[in-house]
Amino acid sequence: MALKDMEALAGEAGQPAFRGRQLFRWIQRGETDFRKMTDLPEVFIHYLQEEAGADSLRTIRAQVSKTDGTRKFLFGLSDGAAVESVFMKYKYGNTVCVSSQAGCRMGCAFCASGLNGLQRGLRPGEILSQILDVEREAGDPVSHLVVMGTGEPFDNYENVTRALALLHDPKGRNMSYRNMTVSTCGVVPGIQRFTREFPQVNLAVSLHAPTDEQRSRIMPVNKRWPLDVLIPACREAAERTGRRVTFEYALIHGVNDRREDADALLERLSGCLCHVNLIPLNEVSETGFVSAGRKRARSFMDYLTAHGMPATVRRQLGADIQGACGQLRFENSKNNN
Ligand code: SAH
Repeated sequence: MALKDMEALAGEAGQPAFRGRQLFRWIQRGETDFRKMTDLPEVFIHYLQEEAGADSLRTIRAQVSKTDGTRKFLFGLSDGAAVESVFMKYKYGNTVCVSSQAGCRMGCAFCASGLNGLQRGLRPGEILSQILDVEREAGDPVSHLVVMGTGEPFDNYENVTRALALLHDPKGRNMSYRNMTVSTCGVVPGIQRFTREFPQVNLAVSLHAPTDEQRSRIMPVNKRWPLDVLIPACREAAERTGRRVTFEYALIHGVNDRREDADALLERLSGCLCHVNLIPLNEVSETGFVSAGRKRARSFMDYLTAHGMPATVRRQLGADIQGACGQLRFENSKNNN
């Protein structure tokens, strides 16, 4: 619920609007027990207990990486679906990676999240809860959000953006939009709408290949919005927002990691306000794709930067708990590959 919805709820309970604001603050702090909302009057608490509900997600499993302290959570939703969320420690602050859907229908060939198709999009509260519940479970405050877990955020646009707005609300968490990043596989209408409505949120686009032929082979979404449509939309988005678009590029051995791929990529992105984030592929056993490795990723990076394209290699966190990019999946039993 947005702040105004909670104010209305207070009104229905015969309470002044500021009671709704107090409730909003409690909820955004992660409190789900109305009785513990100590500044609310008894009658309102009673009303809430009868008429409302505040749920956290059910933690089915929590894992901690032995190598880097990353934590991965499997959360159960009320209808039996389950999603994963990841807590990561960075120098600039703690970050939660949330899922936007249970499953995914985008079908990227190298990714574990879509192996079983889409179950459903998550509701705003389910997205928000991932952050609050991870924070509580980790016992460490969270300052940054990335929507890079399971699912395609722009395939669940309304609910994802409502969750971002809730987190941003100055009367709630007051998280800056600049501390949020949304990653899309390249849903062009979503990119256009999102960068108009949320120009301060960081946009990441999963590119992974410099030509349509290569990209269509590993990302079916490319058939709907090919590079000649996607890249101009990204250029426009960068111009509109004045902010760099991040292009994610998972390096797959023999698929997109050759010198000529780097050349094609440079040509494709030339003059674009952007940054390339290279990810040595995390191997997912079902897909058969092989990682290009960190060393090759570094030389690919060096080549791009030497030719004027800002590029970095993404740190790999949580791989030992299958929590790294592309390794999240909702099906419990298949979680160890
Ligand atoms: N659906 C959105 C959000 C997911 S973000 C999107 O595609 O952008 C997760 C990121 O990890 C995406 O860039 C995705 O392409 C990448 N990824 C998927 N599988 C991967 C793998 N096996 N190794 C490395 N990165 C992978």
